[in-house]
Amino acid sequence: MELTVLGKYGPYAQPGGATSGYLLESGASAVVMDLGAGTLARLLARRPPETLDALFLSHLHADHMSDMLTLRYYLSGKPALKVFLPMEKPCPELELLRACPAFELREIAGLDERVGLFQVRSFAMTHPVPSYALKIREGGRTLLYTADSTLNDNWAPALEGADVCLMDAANPEGLPGPHIPVREGAGLVAGSGAALWLTHFSSVDEGPAVRAASEVCPEVLAVEEGRTYRV
Ligand SMILES: [Zn+2]
Repeated sequence: MELTVLGKYGPYAQPGGATSGYLLESGASAVVMDLGAGTLARLLARRPPETLDALFLSHLHADHMSDMLTLRYYLSGKPALKVFLPMEKPCPELELLRACPAFELREIAGLDERVGLFQVRSFAMTHPVPSYALKIREGGRTLLYTADSTLNDNWAPALEGADVCLMDAANPEGLPGPHIPVREGAGLVAGSGAALWLTHFSSVDEGPAVRAASEVCPEVLAVEEGRTYRV
């Protein structure tokens, strides 16, 4: 499967960039994980959104879902797009999406099903709002997208068997906050044997996050927007 990075920043985009969004393709199947600010234009450059099997929103922070509000205009008059998202906690973002006929909403909690060619499983993460990691398996390869999270008991089972971990790198310094300290997360990924791909950068300078991860993990990649990677 191939991962195209639509946006790699959070909580807001740096100049010329976009916030979280990833296109995953394999053969005729395609899904998107998160659709943050500036990602819809990049998705449109790659393929028509109505060709997606589904779209997953890891959580309902604006840097992961704000372009849903313009995607609804694009999808006007087209068949509804299947969207998996956390629905357990009422919030204004959820109500906005519920009101859109362009979207067919499904609960992401407890997800373990086949979507196109992909087998997709969700893992509850820890963040100020409900947030879900996504473990996606296809063609004998497994990608784990951590979404936004601090450390919790689900990291180990989520990482088990993953070939690549696309990890939240918003907190390179290890300060307290809603994101895992990069060095700590990188250590877990290294222990699992997965390759570490860093994303969700909070600064245009990725150096601190890459250096912190490289201290404990032998294989570290800082993903680039617009690039496609083979998982
Ligand atoms: Zn975020």
